[in-house]
Amino acid sequence: MAFKTVRKKSPPMEMPMEASAEKFVVSEKYSRQILFAPIGPEGQERLRQAKVVIVGCGALGAAQASMLARAGVGRLRIIDRDYVEESNLQRQFLFDESDAAQRLPKAVAAEQKLRRINTDVQAEGVIADVQAANIEDLTGGFDLILDGTDNFETRFLLNDTAVKHRIPWIYGAVVSSYGITFTILPDHTACLSCLLPSSPVGLQETCDTAGVIGPAVSGVSTIQASEALKILSGHEENLHGKLLSFDIWQNRLQQLTCPRDPACLTCSKRQFRYLEGEAPTHISMCGRNSVQIHQRDSRQLNLAALKERLAQFGPVQGNAYLVQCRLDPYEFTVFQDGRAIIKGTQDPGLARSLYARYVGS
Ligand SMILES: [Zn+2]
Repeated sequence: MAFKTVRKKSPPMEMPMEASAEKFVVSEKYSRQILFAPIGPEGQERLRQAKVVIVGCGALGAAQASMLARAGVGRLRIIDRDYVEESNLQRQFLFDESDAAQRLPKAVAAEQKLRRINTDVQAEGVIADVQAANIEDLTGGFDLILDGTDNFETRFLLNDTAVKHRIPWIYGAVVSSYGITFTILPDHTACLSCLLPSSPVGLQETCDTAGVIGPAVSGVSTIQASEALKILSGHEENLHGKLLSFDIWQNRLQQLTCPRDPACLTCSKRQFRYLEGEAPTHISMCGRNSVQIHQRDSRQLNLAALKERLAQFGPVQGNAYLVQCRLDPYEFTVFQDGRAIIKGTQDPGLARSLYARYVGS
């Protein structure tokens, strides 16, 4: 069902229709997509000129990136803070066993894969943890933001940034066999804060506690990618306009109408509480029995020297982007900018002191 308030379509492309059609007849790559009438040669040209940023390249982000690269979206930036592990492969469709064996950062593995999938696409992987201090730089100048994150802290930051800079963004989440998605057009639809006035607190199920099946990921990412194609090709009138959720195991599908909240602090009052918040020096990662340590100042570590030092304490491995060391019962992963993920604890204080002892303060 279409929105009541539909944004005006952008003016038609400069390129004469015949010329663009001819161009795409030469390239077979997108022929079936161009045959799809709502996209056609004009929509394809719009996709070619589009810039999309995917925040988080786990299950949802990997699937979105694959679909948008194949569709010929001109520029894709993929931001992720983590590295590929064997337990990811069942549902993270861009990665394979060799990425996991090399502990490649997901941003790097994704960039390599996307370049192989479609050389037309300018794919760029960015290894970073998205925070208040960097999110506006990381997403500035893009036409659309796709949610591939796994936590509400980052989603509220995305919502603040998207509403502030009026960039459409597409929320999505999946856990177990359940998925949920909502498309946000700033000034036209409800935003995430209209739906949830504040970040949910307390225990929430995550893929690490309740598990997840690949088809649930496909379901959400497919709806997100479809919505992305509609926005980028100039067909906002076809957006679904609902808070969509489903459970593909229990065979339930729900569609909720969510109007804008006139008292919403974010989209009505334009107060960007998450963006203006203090960046944490450390945060727990939900349900993963691990803590992430940040440095306030950005630094460049000498990874080779760190690897040598850590080798005194336990088995180490690494690549050009990170060093990993097993210090039973903990596992350290330290990235070049000094950020670290410490597995085996959920206690930020303990993680901080382990970091200070083995990596430095
Ligand atoms: Zn709102």
